Amino acid sequence: MYERTPRVGSKLTITRHSLACILPPDLLIELARSAEPDQRDALLSTLSIDQGLRLARAEIAARTLTRPITLQPTPTAGTPNRRIYDQAHSSDQTPGTLVRSEGEPPSTDQSVNQAYDNFGYTYALYWDVFHRDSIDGQGMPLEGFVHFGTDYDNAFWDDAGHMFFGDGDGTTLTDTTKGIDVVGHELTHGVTQHEANLMYSGQSGALNESCSDVFGSLVKQYHLGQTAQQADWLIGADIVGPLLAPALRSMKAPGTANHYDHQPATMDGYVQTTTDNGGVHTNSGIPNHAFYLVATAIGGNAWEAAGQIWYDTLVDPRLRPNATFSSFASLTLRSARSRYGATSTQANAVKSAWDAVKVRVR
Ligand SMILES: [Zn+2]
Repeated sequence: MYERTPRVGSKLTITRHSLACILPPDLLIELARSAEPDQRDALLSTLSIDQGLRLARAEIAARTLTRPITLQPTPTAGTPNRRIYDQAHSSDQTPGTLVRSEGEPPSTDQSVNQAYDNFGYTYALYWDVFHRDSIDGQGMPLEGFVHFGTDYDNAFWDDAGHMFFGDGDGTTLTDTTKGIDVVGHELTHGVTQHEANLMYSGQSGALNESCSDVFGSLVKQYHLGQTAQQADWLIGADIVGPLLAPALRSMKAPGTANHYDHQPATMDGYVQTTTDNGGVHTNSGIPNHAFYLVATAIGGNAWEAAGQIWYDTLVDPRLRPNATFSSFASLTLRSARSRYGATSTQANAVKSAWDAVKVRVR
């Protein structure tokens, strides 16, 4: 089963069903090429598991999610519903042992507690700031599967309410449960799936990735109480091993996060490629940088005006699954104008940011 994706440039592309993971396959391949034997085994095993998951997902017909007309707050709105399972190094996707449920005291296993806490911080951003009750807006339980695989160098969201966490091989990645922004990133793939459902290919795929980085970074900034000026704007700083240090990506300076970071900051560097669903983890640097520019131009806390503008856009029914950078950018400007005023500082910051990254706003 293949998913039909929108036109990218002039040719229609058909891609396999995607896997929303924090490390893209082309980066894992690039790392494996230059790795020491031990570490290469971990990288190849990660690639092999990821490929198996992609094929398994491809066999499940893509579900067409429709947006709820109105989000009904549930009786438990304002409180997450978390369950953490220990996969005990199995790469099976069925739940392992349930080790911590909502409200239970901490486990002796740090990975369990980190996953639980980071789910809580992600829920808090969405509830406190945007009044959204979990991923689907209707209190969806958050289930975390820790110690997935052996030395597994990835973390991913499976579209069914489950996040899988690898322990990493220690060189490429370390325990992925530690990444507050990584958890925010993955859970935001769920939010996007329930809202615009941006197709995971080409520009709409890069926007899907970028929204995950934007809200992942906001989860971290909100938890740490950092202003846009104080934030490091890095993604994955808490989960990278020495090979990828200091981080996976930088929204402030795309392309500089580590030796293997090839992200462009403007359309001048837009990458045309057939790998990674058309470079979704690469070209996301462009809208990422636009968000950074908006947040720092407005100043103060990024989750307030800049985050609200991006959230309004993500849930706007006019944002189509095959959105381009330009159509997304135009909607952010509309969102800014309708919430803050046509000539507001916020609207001007949005227009200037997209101009700076050379995305046309209509
Ligand atoms: Zn992602």
